Amino acid sequence: MKVPFLDLHSQYLEIKDEIQAAFDDILRRTAFISGKYVERFEKEFGEAIQVGFCLATSSGTDALHMATWALGLGPGDEVLVPVNTFIATAEAVSFTGARPVFVDHDPETYNIDVAKIEESITPKTKAIIPVHLYGQPANMEAIAEIARWRNLIIIEDACQAHLARFNGTTVGNFGRAAVFSFFPGKNLGAYGDAGAVVTNDQTLYEKMRRIRVHGGVEKDVHEMIGHNYRMSEFQAAVLSVKLPHLRRWTARRQQVAEMYRRLLSGIEGVTLPSVLDGAEHVYHLFVIRVPAERRDAFRSYLAENGIATGLQYRIPIHLQKAYAHLNYRRGDFPVAERSCNEVVSLPMCPMLKDSQVEYVCEKTRSFFSS
Ligand SMILES: *Cc1c(COP(=O)(O)O)cnc(C)c1O
Repeated sequence: MKVPFLDLHSQYLEIKDEIQAAFDDILRRTAFISGKYVERFEKEFGEAIQVGFCLATSSGTDALHMATWALGLGPGDEVLVPVNTFIATAEAVSFTGARPVFVDHDPETYNIDVAKIEESITPKTKAIIPVHLYGQPANMEAIAEIARWRNLIIIEDACQAHLARFNGTTVGNFGRAAVFSFFPGKNLGAYGDAGAVVTNDQTLYEKMRRIRVHGGVEKDVHEMIGHNYRMSEFQAAVLSVKLPHLRRWTARRQQVAEMYRRLLSGIEGVTLPSVLDGAEHVYHLFVIRVPAERRDAFRSYLAENGIATGLQYRIPIHLQKAYAHLNYRRGDFPVAERSCNEVVSLPMCPMLKDSQVEYVCEKTRSFFSS
């Protein structure tokens, strides 16, 4: 049996006719940028996550940068960022000239360790970017409390957490702004790079709208220096076709996760991810931990049996060469430094069949019982 890590082809076959019709329409009208598909997707996505304003962007990275820029972060400011995330979260801070200050993660949920936030705050700390990693909301109750008390701006990195909820509220509504990625492999994926930034703050929305197109919404009028962060009509069309299926696909991810939990429980050597009280996990990834010294052999064994796995994230950001100038040392974030050698991402996507999930669990069990 073959079990791909992510099966985008089967998903495409489900929606092929609708995609083709939308693409034909765009080609016939030769309207490729900022047209009706982008406008429609912004409205639909904003409604799906129940947020006031939504701006479609060229990628999740660009959406993050628009938010940090529009919120006025810059040289001299410090921004708290979990050390266990994709590097784009930190880059968005660096691009503004501000300094990312890393915070270790909670060993059980992989999200920012709220107990370690306070000790990282200095008089220069202006903002915090909680990441809802692997699809699980960070502890937004605790983070909002600290942010209120310490007067910090919250920017949610929800790039892996479309439709996830915390205490009943959809992520994207907990900060001044939140960003989503529609990279093809994300829970809602385009057919190329795409992203969105959302907010409930109209002034911030207007500013980000200007930043998105060279500092002005009216052609040839530039009120400020901006950039080009627009989404293509083709990507917006793909996303609008996919969005009505997202709830069903998310429910299937959650079902697959429940099967993994049931069928992998009690295996010595396998630690399952835990879910925080109040958090609805949308399982962008299903990440388990195995003993570091057996990880390579485990992944090879699964590969020999036709099962693809992933590693997120192999090198914590503070040990990346790109951030050497911040002078962090090995030992600064012991939880992340340990988990990066132990994590394994199992196949996760809505197209997985029960028989494939059972097969992955069976092979995992047989590896650890030998
Ligand atoms: C994917 C991702 C991003 C960046 O999104 P792109 O669309 O790839 O630019 C940022 N943060 C996190 C946590 C991500 O997973």
